[in-house]
Amino acid sequence: MTTIPAITLNDGRTIPQFGLGVFLMDPGETERVVSEALELGYRHIDTAAIYGNEAEVGAAIAKSGIPRDELYVTTKLWNSRQTDAHVAMRESLDKLGLDHVDLYLIHWPTPEKGTYVGAWLDLEEIQAQGLATSIGVSNFMPEHLDALLAQGSVVPAVNQIEVHPTLQQRDAVAANQRHGIVTEAWSPLGRGKADDLTSPVVTAIADAVGRTPAQVVLRWHVQQGYVVFPKSSRRERLAENMRIFDFALTDDQVAALDSLEAGTRVGPDPRTFN
Ligand code: NAD
Repeated sequence: MTTIPAITLNDGRTIPQFGLGVFLMDPGETERVVSEALELGYRHIDTAAIYGNEAEVGAAIAKSGIPRDELYVTTKLWNSRQTDAHVAMRESLDKLGLDHVDLYLIHWPTPEKGTYVGAWLDLEEIQAQGLATSIGVSNFMPEHLDALLAQGSVVPAVNQIEVHPTLQQRDAVAANQRHGIVTEAWSPLGRGKADDLTSPVVTAIADAVGRTPAQVVLRWHVQQGYVVFPKSSRRERLAENMRIFDFALTDDQVAALDSLEAGTRVGPDPRTFN
């Protein structure tokens, strides 16, 4: 079975560098997909309150029989609950059927609302209460991190942002690195919408290394130290996506993938999304 590396966070905890994301996964199939992923060796699941499938993730976890301390579960505080994080956390834990999550994130800064710093102070309390082992943020641009760090006493463990070869967000990644925050890359495959899997640069590298375009792109992510959790509902792709720790890209291949930056977002812009 594939051995998935662990990355050490700034709070001393570790996170599996690879997992399964369940955004846009129909609740009707989430339990099956998470169960199959766990059978294949996945141990890290990335969900969110807004995905509407925390209960199904929790059901698959409960049925798996895998010891809780071998699993890594992330969920996220939705935008409309930034002034109500304690209650929102309890609701997520109830749905997941867990007494704690491994990582709880503020999903978006929604800067126009002006409530994310207050939400962060609540997450600090949630962590102190043991309900979330680690806490972090998502979609925080450098100025949002600065505002949070000016008032918070805990540095976020991770910042989960949109990153794939055609949208690399190097400024945001650099800000994360400056603060000792691990970057999690969401939509690591460009959600199948951008050119990330079809670019001739990617397909040529895939041919050269004898891997699929998805494996090449996921390998590019892990070689930069990012945490990834590609989504798929298909068992063969779940298996394919995790087979990325038994080969390496050369520096030239990484540089060729770096050159695909095109500013292609597949999700909202965090500076304007409310
Ligand atoms: P993704 O980049 O993981 O792409 C998923 C899509 O890629 C699939 O639906 C499928 O069409 C295709 N795909 C998957 N495996 C493939 C393969 N081996 N070959 C060819 N095509 C393949 O997109 P995503 O689901 O948006 O992102 C992954 C996870 O990131 C989400 O499930 C969620 O957990 C997280 N996420 C977080 C945020 C946030 O705001 N924090 C936003 C979006 C996604």
